[in-house]
Amino acid sequence: MNNKVVVLTGGGGVLGKTMALALAKKGAKLAILDLRKDAAEKVAEEINQQGGIAIGVSANVLKKESLLKARTEINSELGSCDILINGAGGNHPKGTTSNTHLLLEDLENKDNDFKTFFDLDSDGIQFVFNLNFIGTLLPTQVFAQDMVGKEGCCILNISSMNAFTPLTKIPAYSGAKAAISNFTQWLAVHFAKVGIRVNALAPGFFLTDQNRSLLTDSEGNPTQRGKTIIEHTPMGRYGEPEDLIGTTEWLCGEGSKFVTGIVVPIDGGFSAFSGV
Ligand code: NAD
Repeated sequence: MNNKVVVLTGGGGVLGKTMALALAKKGAKLAILDLRKDAAEKVAEEINQQGGIAIGVSANVLKKESLLKARTEINSELGSCDILINGAGGNHPKGTTSNTHLLLEDLENKDNDFKTFFDLDSDGIQFVFNLNFIGTLLPTQVFAQDMVGKEGCCILNISSMNAFTPLTKIPAYSGAKAAISNFTQWLAVHFAKVGIRVNALAPGFFLTDQNRSLLTDSEGNPTQRGKTIIEHTPMGRYGEPEDLIGTTEWLCGEGSKFVTGIVVPIDGGFSAFSGV
């Protein structure tokens, strides 16, 4: 990792921050890119205080102009990008149904907050698709230009469990992450002759802000969904952000130099377990 320039989108978030701190400890120079400037700068500050090298950069992964501006700033402060981690992503309540299965009585439910499949609005679905898919495609278009023809470059995308088998209630997020796994394979083939490897992590269940309201109630107790997840995770717990570090270092380092186009589950066995 020594002196490799890593651009990490969504680096101000829970999982991004943990990956950033770990890569900085291995000698990489980090550009923490996030829509929330303060969050990006806070992570960069923490890395610098620990003796690493990092800058916080404010950019929107859905706007190419914003990413091009970020690239100019990163190139002049740290150098050209060697490794891109597409960490920005997530779900939104607008792409989420209230029920697991449609029941006849759901159609009579007059509660405005109760959303069946028929109530999902296309703007909400589009928001989730764009954030995850376009928010991976645009940074790749911008930062892979630094990597073409250079040695030791790679891209790491973030897929999810729901890409293998969709999770109930979240059709938009499941479809968008399936698109990320598919795009990872497509890009791996497309970039194979110019020296850029492309792989993805598929994290299992990590208790973070984006899923806290689905997995815990207002008092912090597990919801039925939270309990079901743990029951279906053979290792019997949620993931900790630190669980992503080993695979991230492997896929971004020399040890995986003949590995491209894979999606690695980091899930305590969730994707291997049929539930029976
Ligand atoms: P998080 O919400 O803590 O972090 C996401 C970060 O992305 C935030 O800092 C946010 O400000 C930033 N962001 C949002 N929109 C942006 C935009 N338009 N431009 C730039 N930055 C933007 O989420 P997290 O749990 O750390 O998730 C990181 C990634 O891992 C996401 O792709 C998520 O879908 C994926 N993931 C998470 C889990 C989980 O259990 N938490 C599981 C599987 C996959």
